[in-house]
Amino acid sequence: MSKPLFNKLALIGIGLIGSSIARVARQEGLAGTISAATRRKETADEARALGIVDEIGTDNAAAVRDADFVILCTPVGANAEAMAQIAPHLKQGAIVSDVGSVKQAVIRDVGPLSPQGVHFVPAHPVAGTEHSGPSAGFPELFKGRWCIVTPIPGSDRAAVDKVIEFWRRCGSDMEEMAADHHDKILAITSHLPHLIAYTIVGTATDLEDDIKSEVIKFAAGGFRDFTRIAASDPTMWRDVFLNNKEAVLEMLGRLSEDLAALQRNIRWGEGDKLYELFERTRAIRRELIDAKQA
Ligand code: NAP
Repeated sequence: MSKPLFNKLALIGIGLIGSSIARVARQEGLAGTISAATRRKETADEARALGIVDEIGTDNAAAVRDADFVILCTPVGANAEAMAQIAPHLKQGAIVSDVGSVKQAVIRDVGPLSPQGVHFVPAHPVAGTEHSGPSAGFPELFKGRWCIVTPIPGSDRAAVDKVIEFWRRCGSDMEEMAADHHDKILAITSHLPHLIAYTIVGTATDLEDDIKSEVIKFAAGGFRDFTRIAASDPTMWRDVFLNNKEAVLEMLGRLSEDLAALQRNIRWGEGDKLYELFERTRAIRRELIDAKQA
């Protein structure tokens, strides 16, 4: 076990991501003490029973007292309220980070609430599952997965490096980029696929009853994979789409054009065009496997 990076780590939110951080931080000895706060008492009781943190309650301000590293692990739309609650109680020199799947909106809403002498370093571990809550977490969640840090221009380099070191010790591969670039990349690699899954499963549930029951019965293959993605947390994903509006709408526009072209290929029996596309997409899958991202 390595020397702790922080004396006290405070997690605001202890769902899938917060509880996975708590588990890996404890396993790797990344903090002397780990405290956490969550919105509802039931969630606090669940986390306490799991024994993954030293202190847990429903008071955000109490959780951050004396903490030198605070991570907001709440849905993107709840981050600003959490920051407003903890701001007056943050220790001078403390680092505050987050795990939000969208970065520009977090910087816009949370950044200005960060007090003088506190370093706000936004980050996004690109790792997750369709499950939520403290019991869904596990310490290996971030292992071999990317974590993207999107520092605000002019931020304290030592604080940024410390956040990078923390995630490295959690097992992540690190990348640094501008927030707008992050939001564009994630719109196509993560947000749009989720939107497509929500749509397909939604369309199936709107079918007439007799067809719908057959869809469930013969769900094997493609549809089943979409249902897994479409089971992802509704609050988290509502907040992602509302907070990455511009990039998602741009990618959705491109997708609509490509879909219209495919529609035309099928209508006019243009098999060579379909084949060409499917061959190209199969090569992408092979590249992904080679890059160990499959
Ligand atoms: P989660 O399992 O649903 O946990 C959310 C936590 O936030 C809970 O402790 C919840 O408290 C608390 N919370 C505070 N205010 C809330 C509010 N207004 N609405 C709902 N919950 C509130 O969520 P998660 O998957 O850990 O996601 C947390 C963050 O990680 C999000 O910002 C998300 O964008 C980001 N992220 C998620 C994934 C993923 O795949 N899930 C991947 C990367 C990043 P109570 O339970 O007490 O209500």
